[in-house]
Amino acid sequence: MSHPLASRVTGPVLTPDDEGFADEVAAHNRAVTHTPDVAVGASSTQDVVETVRWAAEQGVPVAVLATGHGSVTPVTSGVLLTTDRLGGVTVDPATRVATIGAGSAWTDVVPVADAVGLAAIAGSSPHVGVVGYLLGGGIGPFVRSHGISSDRIESVTVVTGAGEVLEASADQHPDLFWALRGGKTGLGVVTQVRLGLVAMPELYAGALFFDTEHIEAALRGWLAWTAEADPETTTSAAIVRFPPIDAVPPFLRGRTVLVLRVARPGDATTGERVAAPLRALAPTVADTVGVLPVARAAEIHNDPTDPAPSWVRGTMLSGADDDLATALLEVVGPGVQQPFVAAEVRHVARPDGVDGSAVSGRGAAFTLSVVGLDPSQFATTMPAAADRIAQAVRPWTAAELNPNFAGTGAAVWDQATAERLDRVRRAYDPAGVLG
Ligand SMILES: Cc1cc2nc3c(=O)[nH]c(=O)nc-3n(C[C@H](O)[C@H](O)[C@H](O)COP(=O)(O)OP(=O)(O)OC[C@H]3O[C@@H](n4cnc5c(N)ncnc54)[C@H](O)[C@@H]3O)c2cc1C
Repeated sequence: MSHPLASRVTGPVLTPDDEGFADEVAAHNRAVTHTPDVAVGASSTQDVVETVRWAAEQGVPVAVLATGHGSVTPVTSGVLLTTDRLGGVTVDPATRVATIGAGSAWTDVVPVADAVGLAAIAGSSPHVGVVGYLLGGGIGPFVRSHGISSDRIESVTVVTGAGEVLEASADQHPDLFWALRGGKTGLGVVTQVRLGLVAMPELYAGALFFDTEHIEAALRGWLAWTAEADPETTTSAAIVRFPPIDAVPPFLRGRTVLVLRVARPGDATTGERVAAPLRALAPTVADTVGVLPVARAAEIHNDPTDPAPSWVRGTMLSGADDDLATALLEVVGPGVQQPFVAAEVRHVARPDGVDGSAVSGRGAAFTLSVVGLDPSQFATTMPAAADRIAQAVRPWTAAELNPNFAGTGAAVWDQATAERLDRVRRAYDPAGVLG
């Protein structure tokens, strides 16, 4: 017997015994297997409306899956709405605004914007979903020069928990618009977003690779450099234990290195001047920092592209000094036995953060994340190792935590923002349908 939703929506409606169910609910993070009662592949805004209304009638929860980069907790009941059929990206060069379907990843947006000489203020990974990223705010490789990505949202088309289609913008449903930019969950199912783009005709960017024996000098030197860093330059330092596998370039295979990522929109002469003190921190084994077309900005971080199991924890730091370098080296330094392949500190401080949305962690100066890839250690060594790192950096830990960096799905907002978010959630999802 077909599922009752099958007669109400045009996209596929799949229950666990149906062929294609496992593919429909598969997340990029293969550590998480979703097992909802039913998966609905939304192919239109109306499909979302019908699904949410049916779920509200039945009193079952609705969760949303885009790429599954943010999948942490398995969805084990109710409806899982998948958004990948809600694609489509158009750009209006006159207004510099992209209209982006909720199924799009950054890799769908970047070439369309680039074709008319514009750029999106995207995240480090081109395969992350635009909407999931923006709902958390979005702190990417251009955060110091261009700010938090969700500050560029013009409007959001959203299906509320009551099954109503609304356009949220500065003028329409401003409370919902405030919440959708940073409030992350429980605010509606987004079907489309209109996002401002920028002109970035020149970019000087890439990564410096410091070998094991230079990690300490590079980390200490970089943290000291951030205190006076050029405000247009975004940098991050990751201690990476590259596995000895073919997918890793030979010069990195099996090595532990510090990867110092640099992104500075603007001309090469200024970029070279800004990067000179970073190049002087210690000898490098490789240096890819140079002129980079903005459409290739994903090469700055070179995040992994294929779906795989992963375990992530993150926090935000209010500042950094040489004692932080000492603390980090004690818990994730090259000689230390610990289960993570990467520990990354991103310098995200900017003096002139625009307010007026629910983004948390806007005032933090750094993010700190660890990533583990060995599933046998996800439930065994990683939680305790992450706790040790959290303990070591406690003196620098910021009060807020952005949801895109928490790794647990949990964010920390200041109390007033958290309470206001709850009020907006109750107003637009009175029955609590949306997870
Ligand atoms: C490799 C990697 C690199 C990353 N880089 C950055 C970075 O540079 N900066 C940064 O800020 N973050 C970064 N992130 C974090 C990322 O932004 C979040 O994990 C984000 O939630 C992923 O969104 P998604 O749609 O791809 O994933 P999903 O797991 O599919 O979605 C995550 C959540 O977003 C919500 N959601 C998604 N689509 C919708 C929708 N249409 N309507 C309502 N809710 C929706 C749902 O709550 C869903 O559970 C990165 C993550 C990874 C794995």
